[in-house]
Amino acid sequence: MAGRKPGRNFLFVPGPTNVPDRILRAMHVTMEDHRSSDFPKLTLPLYEELKKIFKTKDGQVVIFPSSGTGAWEAAITNTRSPGDKVLIARFGQFSHLWGELARRHGLDVIVQEEEWGTGVSPERIEEALRTDKNHEIKGVLVVHNETATGVTSDVAAVRRALNAAKHPALLYVDGVSSIASIDFRMDDWGVDLAITGSQKGLMLPAGLGVLCASQKALAQMKDAKCTRAYFDLADHMRTNPSGYFPYTPALPLLYGLRESLVMLQEEGLDNVFARHRYLAEGTRAAVKAWGLKLCAKEPKWHSNTVSAIMVPQGFNGADVIDRAYRRYNLALGAGLSQMAGKLFRIGHLGDLNELMLLGGIAGAEMAMRDVGIEVVPGSGVAAAQEQFRAGQSTRETRMAAE
Ligand code: PLP
Repeated sequence: MAGRKPGRNFLFVPGPTNVPDRILRAMHVTMEDHRSSDFPKLTLPLYEELKKIFKTKDGQVVIFPSSGTGAWEAAITNTRSPGDKVLIARFGQFSHLWGELARRHGLDVIVQEEEWGTGVSPERIEEALRTDKNHEIKGVLVVHNETATGVTSDVAAVRRALNAAKHPALLYVDGVSSIASIDFRMDDWGVDLAITGSQKGLMLPAGLGVLCASQKALAQMKDAKCTRAYFDLADHMRTNPSGYFPYTPALPLLYGLRESLVMLQEEGLDNVFARHRYLAEGTRAAVKAWGLKLCAKEPKWHSNTVSAIMVPQGFNGADVIDRAYRRYNLALGAGLSQMAGKLFRIGHLGDLNELMLLGGIAGAEMAMRDVGIEVVPGSGVAAAQEQFRAGQSTRETRMAAE
């Protein structure tokens, strides 16, 4: 049939990620009554297991039938009032959008501009908080992993900045492209509201927005005046403890989530993080061998879930992406907003191993050559292999020791 693309689609956008067959099968369920007496057997353990993913003891987990954006909105509207000041560092499309969402809800958003390719500056955050003598800033918003630029920020350092300034603002963290792929510690880092979506590290389709709130955040709900209805935490907190939802839940996704959490536990969260680091290092070795640069300016910003790769002057990243998709059935991530055309992204998160990634790297290499970017054929693939070889022994030794 004309237009048919034989073989597998190589999905290398940084979300949605590959959904493992086990999860696809787990989601293949007939519909059932979500008010039945059996339903809590499915739902109640999900909250407990998700707490392990967020690394929290006392945090309250809520699952919304939404994408990550819904969880952003829930975090803001349940804890803030119009006119409240919040501080956000902007260094990519997602940190831009979250601040914009807060602004649309009437918050007074103070934006700290950082160069795209860098991340949150804890020093600048601390400075802003120290000057805020009357504690008018009610929240600090941090995008842990900026998916648009492949930059990971140091959330623990932001917590230290809040503490050093003795500032009571809540710490809001977007973990959409970090949670369940890069180490995240809600309690240790004193995060008050953490959010994620189902379509990245959790290896599910999009459709679940997960929020985890600290007790300090929950205490602010009663005074929060932002309008909320569908995303009102109070409705969930009334129904969730007995295993039910305030509205019809996305049933297949919940079954998928149950399987995803089993899979993460079987591999072990620390091994999941180590695998992401190892695969990311392979990708970075390929980029270096191509003679190209990452958008992330320094190694301290390197993301282990997505690499944003700058194309040389005179080339358009969108052409590489289009060629990869049309000719090789490979989906690469686009440059967003001010990065449009300047880069392409390889998402290396979720259910992924070396050989899958080598396929993606080979495809990127071929597509780049097709549009005239002179990379040496096989150079990225060879460099990634060498990196894997070097990284394997340490990874295996560590896993054997556990
Ligand atoms: N935050 C980050 C870091 C993201 O990468 C994304 C989406 O890619 C979002 C928020 C928005 O999530 P969603 O598209 O699931 O609404």
